[in-house]
Amino acid sequence: MRVKVYNTLTRRLEPFEPLTPPLVRMYVCGPTVYDHSHIGHARTWVAFDVIKKYLRLKGYYVIHVQNITDIDDKIINRAKELGISWKEVADRYAKEYLDLMKKLKIYPTIHPRVTDHIDDIIEFVQDLIDKGYAYVTKSGVYFDVDKYPYYGQLSGIKDKKMWRQETFVEDKKNPYDFALWKCAKPGEPWWESPWCKGRPGWHIECSTMSSKYLGKQFDIHGGARDLIFPHHENEIAQSEARFGVRPWVKYWMHTGYLTVKGEKMSKSLGNIVALKDVLAKYEPEVLRFWLSSAHYRSELDFTWERLEEAKTALERMRMTVNQLRSLVRKEYPKGYLKDWEKEAIYEISNIRSKFHEAMENDFNTPQAWAAVREALRIGNKALEEGSWEVSLALLNFLDEIDRVFEVFGEREAVPIEPFVELLVDVRKKLREKKEWELADYIRDELAKRGIKLLDKGQETEWRMT
Ligand SMILES: [Zn+2]
Repeated sequence: MRVKVYNTLTRRLEPFEPLTPPLVRMYVCGPTVYDHSHIGHARTWVAFDVIKKYLRLKGYYVIHVQNITDIDDKIINRAKELGISWKEVADRYAKEYLDLMKKLKIYPTIHPRVTDHIDDIIEFVQDLIDKGYAYVTKSGVYFDVDKYPYYGQLSGIKDKKMWRQETFVEDKKNPYDFALWKCAKPGEPWWESPWCKGRPGWHIECSTMSSKYLGKQFDIHGGARDLIFPHHENEIAQSEARFGVRPWVKYWMHTGYLTVKGEKMSKSLGNIVALKDVLAKYEPEVLRFWLSSAHYRSELDFTWERLEEAKTALERMRMTVNQLRSLVRKEYPKGYLKDWEKEAIYEISNIRSKFHEAMENDFNTPQAWAAVREALRIGNKALEEGSWEVSLALLNFLDEIDRVFEVFGEREAVPIEPFVELLVDVRKKLREKKEWELADYIRDELAKRGIKLLDKGQETEWRMT
């Protein structure tokens, strides 16, 4: 079965057929580095990382470009607020962003910065002027939306009154024309250009950097849902106008909104959850797991409680995985299969198909996780019965999954068994001293973490629940 993706441009689920298979060219809008990255950003980045890693698992080679917008009005305003230079603001938050990406195990192939591509942007804008799609005024260069007949195709917004953008300039032909180049006001940063000393507009950056590295047409353009209009709409207009291709990008993919306790994150509500604060409290794997447990297009609501639940669920899964690893490491295959083992291995292969069906269907990660949970139930039986063969089959499947989700951790992670055995031993000593309260405390706390103790006379056995 082939991969199907939901394309925002056509509003349909479509078979995924890249322009030059098995190569996939993907561009994802990165951050404007004027403040801390937040969990809404992380949602988009993790979503496209999972998509990339799954496509790799299917045999595609993925070039992943994710930009850094390091010059923008927001950065200039923030610099004024903090009393430092715009460059310091951009460098500070770009560094934070790159560190957080590493923690989340997300490695785009290229991380281009706008200020390294000013010449490319000028060339792009000049070409649009030469082709009659852009005009120069005193305040800058603008895209002439009326010259481009397909405006509104991505967002579906066809009413010109709804196209209004960037109202602060007076000398545009139409309120819906957008800036390609902005002349600098006194005190603002600038670069030389044929029109005025100034800086690029936001939308032109992404068109320039994506086409520079991915060509005049490419496969996937991703970003958060709120970028559809005007950012992505404008990117399409500029690029199709310059390159004379249609569609410029074959598949437009957008992540759903992330709310906090049911409300949209905003400065005025003071409810922005910084990614660094989440990663100070939780392992990056917990966040990857929580984010991927929802479909990338659905709305997702953040609360600390939900993250805590994700942590507990992930810990349980990891314990099973680690126990399976330890069983396979310590013991040996026995050379034959019992009937239940034959059935279990067959079942694992069925579950693996379910996992792929889910992921092929527009990367349905919640269904994929349901398949993993089903597999882990077989894992518990394999551990109870001490089946090396079933454990190995499962580990093969789980390793495949982890190449996409990257949540189970290193193969040689510290095993938990010695620590559980230590607690069981301490509890035994407490029971001998009739310290029932503490002994019960250990039993109950382990139970909460998915480890069940079974007292058999003086001895205690334990297993995962
Ligand atoms: Zn962009």
